[in-house]
Amino acid sequence: MSGAARFDLIVVGAGPAGSAAAVTAGRAGLSVALIDRAPFPRDKLCGGAVSGRAQQQLAQVFGRLPDDLMRWVGRANLLHQGHHIAALSFDRPFGMTMRQDFDAALHDRALQAGAVDYSGRRIARMDLENGLLSLSDGTTLGAPLIIGADGVNSVVARRLWGRAQDPSRLALALEVEVRRPCGRAAMEVDLGAANWGYGWAFPKRNGLTLGVGGLVSRNPALRAVMEDWLVRHGAAGTVRVKGHHLPFGAFPAVPGEGRVLLAGDAAGLVDPLTGEGIAWAIHSGALAAQAAIRALAQEAPGAALRHYTAALAPVHGELRRARLCRGVLYARPLRGAVARRVLAHPGVQARYVQLLEGQLDYADLEARSFLRLVRRLALPALDRWFPPR
Ligand SMILES: Cc1cc2nc3c(=O)[nH]c(=O)nc-3n(C[C@H](O)[C@H](O)[C@H](O)COP(=O)(O)OP(=O)(O)OC[C@H]3O[C@@H](n4cnc5c(N)ncnc54)[C@H](O)[C@@H]3O)c2cc1C
Repeated sequence: MSGAARFDLIVVGAGPAGSAAAVTAGRAGLSVALIDRAPFPRDKLCGGAVSGRAQQQLAQVFGRLPDDLMRWVGRANLLHQGHHIAALSFDRPFGMTMRQDFDAALHDRALQAGAVDYSGRRIARMDLENGLLSLSDGTTLGAPLIIGADGVNSVVARRLWGRAQDPSRLALALEVEVRRPCGRAAMEVDLGAANWGYGWAFPKRNGLTLGVGGLVSRNPALRAVMEDWLVRHGAAGTVRVKGHHLPFGAFPAVPGEGRVLLAGDAAGLVDPLTGEGIAWAIHSGALAAQAAIRALAQEAPGAALRHYTAALAPVHGELRRARLCRGVLYARPLRGAVARRVLAHPGVQARYVQLLEGQLDYADLEARSFLRLVRRLALPALDRWFPPR
């Protein structure tokens, strides 16, 4: 692979994580090659719910985005297997977006920040040890550091470790976009629609996104679950159902190897309770780029992974706590009882809303008082099922 075009940084994948990395590095003066196998605009299967947490990250990393990218939705109906649990309202409404437009806007910002566009090209060869990548059009790129932000099936992670994700902690999500005028003012989330996951109905500017998703290992009949969900929303048989995996509770403790840093889904960074990935993708992409900037300024590119691992530790802590909460919510025999009883509690609802808005972290949930509440509300249900002898 001789005659390579040299850069300070190569970013593979131009979703939210890759564009965040490219914009951060580009603005700091690094020369950046931004590769994506798809030409933009391109679609990405996603609910497109941009939480308050994600909006904070967006504003910090990309600045203000055009208003017409979002439909703002400030209410959500929470259900369990069709039974109403709570009507939530948000001080910071969710932005409901179409990923095709959203990702194109982020990619555009990355190019404005100086990243060189290598979209619409596949990677033909990877020599990660020497920081060299050859593309399908014959171009060869070289850099002292590479960020792999190429999603859940990351070829970069597979090259490092032989597989991109732990299959036992992978979720599958099925989704459709129903293109029809949508008068709904609230999202709907049913925590009992799928096992260790949920169903969603997200109103958009020009339609409705319907989906179900959960851990692959707990949902052998997810297609049938999706059919029921579509029937419930009057959309059965109208549109083709698509599916996509997402990381759901496993991430490598060290997010990369050597001079390769992984970000976003490629690093397993999706909240295993809420399924939120956009905020963590943007945050981790920016952190990876900051680590690269620091290491290159010190003329020690080999230190970038150490800087990044340290910066990512609070994110890993949050995802571990989210996994614990998911266990409490979904583990049998509490499943259902916890969702119905605990989430019906106004105090828990208020915290859940703040968590989704990004005003509260899992770390703030004060595990002890939360678990005390779980015990107080869920134990009566347990007593009913397993009466004391
Ligand atoms: C059905 C579904 C619904 C979801 N709903 C939500 C939601 O409502 N809100 C939320 O916050 N999160 C949601 N998520 C999670 C969210 O979509 C992801 O966490 C997020 O997109 C991760 O961003 P990323 O940049 O890491 O990866 P991606 O968005 O997957 O981007 C990866 C990029 O890499 C490119 N790429 C892939 N392979 C290669 C290759 N070999 N070479 C070059 N480029 C490559 C792809 O073309 C893509 O542009 C959902 C996920 C699914 C599956």
